[in-house]
Amino acid sequence: MAFSQLGLAADILRAVEEKGYTSPTPVQQQAIPPILQGGDLLAGAQTGTGKTAGFTLPLLHRLSLNPPANGKRPVRALILVPTRELAAQVEESVVVYGKYLPLRSVVIFGGVKINPQIDKLRRGVDILVATPGRLLDHMSQKTVDLSQVEILVLDEADRMLDMGFIRDIRRILAVLPKQRQNLLFSATFSDDIRRLAEGLLHQPTMIEVARRNTASETVAQVVHPVDRQRKGALLAHLISSQDWRQVLVFTRTKHGANRLAQQLEKDGITAAAIHGNKSQGARTRALADFKSGEVRVLVATDIAARGLDISQLPHVVNFELPNVAEDYVHRIGRTGRAGNEGEAMSLVCVDEHKLLRDIERVIKRELPKVVIPGFEPDPSIQAEPIPNGRGGQRPAGRQGKPGGNGANPSGKRSQGKPPSRGQRPAGRGGAGRSRAPQSKG
Ligand code: AMP
Repeated sequence: MAFSQLGLAADILRAVEEKGYTSPTPVQQQAIPPILQGGDLLAGAQTGTGKTAGFTLPLLHRLSLNPPANGKRPVRALILVPTRELAAQVEESVVVYGKYLPLRSVVIFGGVKINPQIDKLRRGVDILVATPGRLLDHMSQKTVDLSQVEILVLDEADRMLDMGFIRDIRRILAVLPKQRQNLLFSATFSDDIRRLAEGLLHQPTMIEVARRNTASETVAQVVHPVDRQRKGALLAHLISSQDWRQVLVFTRTKHGANRLAQQLEKDGITAAAIHGNKSQGARTRALADFKSGEVRVLVATDIAARGLDISQLPHVVNFELPNVAEDYVHRIGRTGRAGNEGEAMSLVCVDEHKLLRDIERVIKRELPKVVIPGFEPDPSIQAEPIPNGRGGQRPAGRQGKPGGNGANPSGKRSQGKPPSRGQRPAGRGGAGRSRAPQSKG
């Protein structure tokens, strides 16, 4: 899809083009049309999705349709954000995307002198980007008039609530005109957010987009180093010993998917394979059986999985790492969505160390390596090339040394039990709660 298909004004498209964007991101594709229509919007989207342009572009478009009369410039769009940093960033976007429009914007936040802000507000402003605290200061000093606001945006609403801004927000909402367009963006949907949305939004369009790489930050991930030939046995062991009931397993090839499904069946674990060579009927049936619980394990290739309407699975296993690191992110995105519990395990053999490093680079962290007792990798096994992969061609002589296969760089062994919470990466308690310190506005 092209930006030009969204119905935005030519002056906005020009600015977008100059910024170098070639096509709208998913959140932009979904959010821009309903906002242009004038309706309310509830959007599940995080930083990194392009959400800022998602609301800024249509907001600019709507404001530019009816320019301010007789030189007066009341605030017509109010964008509330949790932090100073975000406020500055959002206003910069407004400036960049609105550079060919006769609209003015101002950003106000705390921690800096209030007088320059008062001067700017006095000169007239169409779009106000503000943190709640400082906006309330201006309201109490009567240095801002919000009686003409047509569009309200609550950006990162969950973060604003986390930071204790709910009462401030309610006080601000109270002075806005009843008739207005409301756009609420939030990364997570707690009961508090739902309550806020219910009271605020009128028949909103609801959209939700996954953040790029989001799962890599919220899903518990672990690598189990294991020998190439013992992966099947390890998988069967994990499924049985931990009594997993619904597992999505990824293989690199169709053939591998078939073989694994057959092997699991032999081990007494119900399994079905799903891939491009299967008829649509077979795929639909396998999926239905998997969803109903009749089949415990669904083995899929990346391409087959892309079309599957399955998410929020408790367990995703990478039986083989994908050749393309980004596919890893898509795979593990099948688990642990929207605050659900989820674990992603990768069975990694010596051939795949390069692939693993690529993945760790993409997700910007090292994955914990946990060797399952009884499945310790044999350090004398040499890496073999992966067909169409980049992982196998390693210089000879690096894999042969005892303990030098890099499969378990920490040298730690698990404590004789399967991966427990303590071995998971930190920072997954409560979606969106573990955040870096930030300044309140
Ligand atoms: P945001 O989620 O709004 O913080 O945006 C994340 C980043 O994506 C920002 O650096 C934007 O400049 C960039 N961005 C937004 N929209 C697009 C697009 N359509 N194409 C490429 N990059 C974009």
